[in-house]
Amino acid sequence: MTVSRGWHFFQNPGPTNIPDRVLRAMDRGTIDFTGVQFKAIAEECFAGLKRIFKTNETILGYAASGHGAWEAAIVNLFSPGDKVLVVETGYFSLNWGMRCESFGLEVETLANDWRNAADPAALESRLREDRAHQIKGVLVVHNETSTGVVHDVAALRRAIDAAGHPALYLVDVISSLASIDFRMDEWRVDVVVAGSQKGLMLPTGMTFTGVSAKALAAGAAAKLPRVYWDWRRLVEGTSQAVWNGTIPVHFFYGLQEALRMLEEEGLDNVFARHHRLAEATRRAVRVWRQNDGPEIFAADPRAQSDSVTAVLTPEGYDANKMRTLCLERFNVSLGGGLGPLQGRVFRIGHMGDLNEPMILGSLAAVEMALELTGVPHGRGGVAAAMDYLVNGA
Ligand SMILES: *Cc1c(COP(=O)(O)O)cnc(C)c1O
Repeated sequence: MTVSRGWHFFQNPGPTNIPDRVLRAMDRGTIDFTGVQFKAIAEECFAGLKRIFKTNETILGYAASGHGAWEAAIVNLFSPGDKVLVVETGYFSLNWGMRCESFGLEVETLANDWRNAADPAALESRLREDRAHQIKGVLVVHNETSTGVVHDVAALRRAIDAAGHPALYLVDVISSLASIDFRMDEWRVDVVVAGSQKGLMLPTGMTFTGVSAKALAAGAAAKLPRVYWDWRRLVEGTSQAVWNGTIPVHFFYGLQEALRMLEEEGLDNVFARHHRLAEATRRAVRVWRQNDGPEIFAADPRAQSDSVTAVLTPEGYDANKMRTLCLERFNVSLGGGLGPLQGRVFRIGHMGDLNEPMILGSLAAVEMALELTGVPHGRGGVAAAMDYLVNGA
């Protein structure tokens, strides 16, 4: 086994780098989670989360990965046989839909090509056809982490409104929250599914759900069985009053620090930094595209994600071979292709605690790996990224 020295460059699109400040904040003893000291920490955290979600509605937390909050949304809102419409965006959207199916829901998929943003007009016309309002929920992934395509949550909301359809609007923001602008209340999202280990810069294991008053009311009539996920057991007013079992206080230590870091920088500056680092990445890939090299998977520049770039390798060249070399030789970790994109795509995460030299170091490793694995490409991608970071535009 080779020994690696120096920093491990963690460039997966989740989990992400955990800042030292967050690690240090968690490096403390346990306190009584029923006491006033913890209560103050939890209150600060939920208030901070509301500012990040841009909501005055309820936010709940669970000890789980994001998959848990996916499931919580399903079991709290629906009854067996209910119909939901999954807007196809990529691997994660289909995965969420598959879970609905497992719970006995009827799942319809609004088909969409993975390289482009979902079309609000297609959603509107499908909902208009549903005159009997059989569709109870519309499920959308804001930032599809498998493709690097960002979907227009506000425009899809307007499509639901234009069709005059009462369906609940469920949005997965796991890889966009605190990286790309998201507005729960303004965009009238009923249920928001979020995780800890991406834009929030925490370890994996905590998940958050934003729940509108409309969704809470719908939950009262839902018939799917639930205990751990049951919103009714957790809520008092608009805040989490109860936790299922022992509260993971160390997570709250970390969350408190991460939220302070985000507020210190300012959310708009956080978004601008993500945009800058994403654009630098895209500049590099566009240069690599020369000589029939790799290309950005997201076809429409307006829908290219600021938190992850999926890169399609030329036909006949294995993305995983190049990815493995990056990890083993340069200690740089990239995301792989998911589902049908396995071996065709590698993904560069640029979300969370990241700055210019970190992204440039990773891009340099990718450019060397393309060379070393014989993938055709244009040279000078890193220089183009640097040029953008210096001169902008
Ligand atoms: C990472 C991710 C998930 C899954 O989250 P886990 O914490 O791994 O369960 C779901 N949806 C999207 C869009 C993601 O990026």
